[in-house]
Amino acid sequence: MQVVHTIADLRAALAGRGRPAFVPTMGNLHAGHLALVRQARPLGDVLVASIFVNRLQFLPHEDFDSYPRTLQADCKLLEAEHCDIVFAPRESDLYPQPQTFRVQPDPRLADVLEGHFRPGFFAGVCTVVLKLFGCVFGGHPGTAVFGRKDYQQQMVIRQMVRQFALPIDIATADISRATDGLALSSRNAYLSPEERGEAVQLGRALQALAQAALALRQPLPALESDAARVLGARGWQVDYLTVRQRADLQAPEGKPQAGQLVALGAARLGKTRLIDNLEF
Ligand code: AMP
Repeated sequence: MQVVHTIADLRAALAGRGRPAFVPTMGNLHAGHLALVRQARPLGDVLVASIFVNRLQFLPHEDFDSYPRTLQADCKLLEAEHCDIVFAPRESDLYPQPQTFRVQPDPRLADVLEGHFRPGFFAGVCTVVLKLFGCVFGGHPGTAVFGRKDYQQQMVIRQMVRQFALPIDIATADISRATDGLALSSRNAYLSPEERGEAVQLGRALQALAQAALALRQPLPALESDAARVLGARGWQVDYLTVRQRADLQAPEGKPQAGQLVALGAARLGKTRLIDNLEF
């Protein structure tokens, strides 16, 4: 496995290796990331993972500085998964000048949910992903794998790829969960033992909301407010708990139809912001 830090070294490492299968990450890898890597392996001739904590997608008060950076441990895990190339640029390698050009995603998709609570988040994500795609694929075909844990993110990326006619297939991976059901996340490391016990309630709230939405004994907004109140009473600060159409992340029109919906949630437990979702 080659670990490269500059775009020039990445391009040299990729020369003549065929179609890349690419897994972008911010590192501090866990079993969820490794499942993406395993899924990616048969999808290309050369398997590339990137590790880069992208400043552009963090708001000033967010955890950019404290985000766990564990390159050595990450490389060991990737080597065990037979990754071919790790692209771990320093900030000055990927952004040698201030990144003043940005990708502006469709506000209808990117300014709701995560984008509403983290303004500019998806512009930051799309800008770095487009740049990473340029570095890894250089306009040639390939496949990139994203997790459905970040449900809105994979939709925004798919739309970007379609609208810019990039020759890149986007594959998505199921959410990897701990045995108690908590979605794996690098941010779970911030949780105290007590918070870690409580954290499973976010997924449970989404399950209960999905069931209630199908039973539809009350209008959806009332069910969503109830769900937020229940988590709030347990000490969470809820950003959103909501049922949306999978197709466009808008509120369902008419009676919610099973098989076309997704319940999405984001909430803070102490200092830790967690997200989760459930297709139903
Ligand atoms: P991150 O390092 O958090 O930016 O995540 C890198 C990629 O891993 C993204 O495509 C995430 O959606 C995906 N990912 C992170 N956690 C999980 C998980 N628990 N299950 C599935 N995919 C995940």
